[in-house]
Amino acid sequence: MHELSLAQGLVEQLEKAAVAENALRVERIIVVIGKYSGVERDAFEFAFPFAAEGTLSERAKLEIEELPVQVECRQCAALSNPEPTLLLCGQCGSNDVELKGGREFLIRSVELEVP
Ligand SMILES: [Zn+2]
Repeated sequence: MHELSLAQGLVEQLEKAAVAENALRVERIIVVIGKYSGVERDAFEFAFPFAAEGTLSERAKLEIEELPVQVECRQCAALSNPEPTLLLCGQCGSNDVELKGGREFLIRSVELEVP
């Protein structure tokens, strides 16, 4: 499962951050997932507690922000937010578009419990 290895990678990063700050544990984490990132939100939420088990992130509250797909049209220069399965300009319908957003998969913020 793709999301489990992503969650494990993320938990490793959290662990490093927590150790660097001498934190007792990770309290809360906000993760940004773009709708074109290939990461399934539900699968990721499901996988996170398994990846976090036995680490400083074990009882961390996971919050997810989803970012829409954004494309810029090379024909009419419009910006639009199409469905990830159909990358067309929302203005003129052209498929000559450049992907501007939606591939994100990153940690936006981490709250640590520090003694
Ligand atoms: Zn267009």
